[in-house]
Amino acid sequence: LNRRLSGLGTTIFAEMSALAISTGSINLGQGFPDTDGPEDVREAAVRALRKGNGNQYPPGPGIPELRQAVAEHQQRFYGLTYDPDTEVLVTAGATEAIAAALLALLEPGDEVIAFEPFYDSYAACIAMAGATRVPLTLRAPSFRPNLDELRALITPRTRLLLINTPHNPTGTVLTADELATIAELAVEHDLLVITDEVYEHLVFGTATHHPISALPGMRERTVSISSAGKTFSFTGWKVGWVTASPALVSAVRTAKQYLTYVSAGPFQYAVAEALRLPESYFATFRANLVRKRDLLVEGLSSAGFRVFNPEGTYFITTDITPLGEKDGLEFCRSLPARCGVVAIPNVVFYDNTEAGQSLVRFTFCKKDEVLSEAVTRLQQL
Ligand code: PMP
Ligand code: GLN
Repeated sequence: LNRRLSGLGTTIFAEMSALAISTGSINLGQGFPDTDGPEDVREAAVRALRKGNGNQYPPGPGIPELRQAVAEHQQRFYGLTYDPDTEVLVTAGATEAIAAALLALLEPGDEVIAFEPFYDSYAACIAMAGATRVPLTLRAPSFRPNLDELRALITPRTRLLLINTPHNPTGTVLTADELATIAELAVEHDLLVITDEVYEHLVFGTATHHPISALPGMRERTVSISSAGKTFSFTGWKVGWVTASPALVSAVRTAKQYLTYVSAGPFQYAVAEALRLPESYFATFRANLVRKRDLLVEGLSSAGFRVFNPEGTYFITTDITPLGEKDGLEFCRSLPARCGVVAIPNVVFYDNTEAGQSLVRFTFCKKDEVLSEAVTRLQQL
């Protein structure tokens, strides 16, 4: 393993999901739903397979139907206009979009400012690009970015801001004001922005998802990333997309060509249909998630955790200190044997590990009865 990748080891998601299987535990670790997405959308994938749509290499940028549907989605939800031919790129999940964007846009030695805790592929891909990550630490209890601190982290080597809203694992949804300040800093310092918006539709209560690319001066410097995995409960399909200016899409496409060339064809036809689902789909999906969130927030509190109620995503960050514990990694490694539940230690998503030492993440994208059973088990700790 080369120096750039040393220390990256096995992702925590693989480690914890393997532990869930080997111990027969309830897996509230890795974020994947235990109920698949809409039947009609699955049928669309089957139809595509049967009709021979996408069984051979689809076009490199993605099938036109999906690029069109992505452009329509951006228009419908955010009033953003993107040309499906030059400003949309289909990728193998958001993960590939993140990798291709970072590999395409960074020079070795560039600095990337990212909010920590960060989704683990960010650190790995910044390292693969030979760049340096500079964390802006989100701290309990608010997990909101200190934007004066952000300003202070910008140096002449800063090339790019990597943001994620709604934020995994804290559930923070950046406000319009926070995004406006971030956008002003990006314009003032001529920075690129990569925005990971895979949880764009998983937003609760009064919080609203705002795409930073809509702000003044941002369209030309922003690479927006999303995927079908979370919104439509098809994490196994690995269909993602990028929307950006023609120059940025072309740069990302150059890297993407040599990573996967294209992603699986038949699923692209189905996701094109999913993106056109009526508002009732999105509303019902959100209402179900709110109920599950409330169930798990309540349950984790009753089991003695300090709970930070998320505004978005399907994750709840907790602090285990009130349970007399302080090491989240050790806690998560021993939890399956102690009570048959798997969770994710947030500390692995921090450079400043002191800020995440005692934090543990649980997902609530599971059936209500599974969540209830997990709570019963955790109450016995
Ligand atoms: N970004 C974040 C913040 C995530 O939590 C995930 C996990 N779904 C991804 C990107 C990866 O998305 P995909 O499965 O579409 O590659
Ligand atoms: N995004 C999901 C999570 O954060 C799954 C990530 C993965 O398996 N790489 O749990």
